[in-house]
Amino acid sequence: MTTLLVSHPASLDHLTPPGHPERPDRMRAVAQVLGESRFDTLLREEAPEGSLDLVRLCHDERYVEELRHIAPDKGLIYLDGDTSMSPGTWEAVMRGVGGAVAATEAVMSGKADNAFVAMRPPGHHAEINRPMGFCFFDHAAIAARHAQRKYGIARAAVVDFDVHHGNGTQDIFWADATMMYCSTHQMPLFPGTGASGERGEHDTIVNAPLAPNDGSARFRAAFDNLILPQLTKFAPELIVVSAGFDAHRRDPLANINLDAEDFGWVTRKLMDLAGKSAGGRIVSVLEGGYDLQGLKESVAAHVTALMGA
Ligand code: ZN
Repeated sequence: MTTLLVSHPASLDHLTPPGHPERPDRMRAVAQVLGESRFDTLLREEAPEGSLDLVRLCHDERYVEELRHIAPDKGLIYLDGDTSMSPGTWEAVMRGVGGAVAATEAVMSGKADNAFVAMRPPGHHAEINRPMGFCFFDHAAIAARHAQRKYGIARAAVVDFDVHHGNGTQDIFWADATMMYCSTHQMPLFPGTGASGERGEHDTIVNAPLAPNDGSARFRAAFDNLILPQLTKFAPELIVVSAGFDAHRRDPLANINLDAEDFGWVTRKLMDLAGKSAGGRIVSVLEGGYDLQGLKESVAAHVTALMGA
């Protein structure tokens, strides 16, 4: 099994205000754990900068142009209560897009069996025409759509186990019968979307909300009873994972009590499924995860599973 790890130091240059949970130390924690010798066999690449054409696969032209021109020369500017840009944000975001796309190309071309993209800021809250919840562009959605356009696959799926609902990915794929979006998330919680009745125009949105204080058993049941059967029926030719690790029990932003090994479990389940309809192809993109210890353990379990270990 060849697993590709895509990262870039530009991820450290997206600065957020003091005390903000989505901070550069998250990247340092991930780099530290994936630097351990048990991960020596990962194929490693730096994320290239993505193009505006790639971003336009999922986002409105006017929004892309606006965002491009408002990055500050110094300090921070706020786009909403929790989403801000620093001078390094644009490059970090565009390398996040480029990294997800490069990982997708490596997996689609067979250079790697699967891939993990360790970049920040995250992307799944970014809607077609607005930034939201720490996110600017939806890397996972862009990767999935790029795979369709460049490699002609009929169907792709984004599976999102971040503790927050990926309102952005749902918004982008709402009317797209060729894309499935599946999510487990705590409800009620930011951003407020993701009720099980939200199913998209073609019944390709699968929301499995969890209640505060749910843990491993409910999380696994949501996959076993709802998400995995729907995915099996849909038979995606590529699975993109919105890999947020903030459902870990240590995370300060939510109250779902998963352990690191739950992320290993779900990764293996998705690999089994990808083996049946997608030639094993999985591209995993980092989303949330705000307790550094929980993030390290969870990323380790996820990437270990991807490596087939
Ligand atoms: Zn999250």
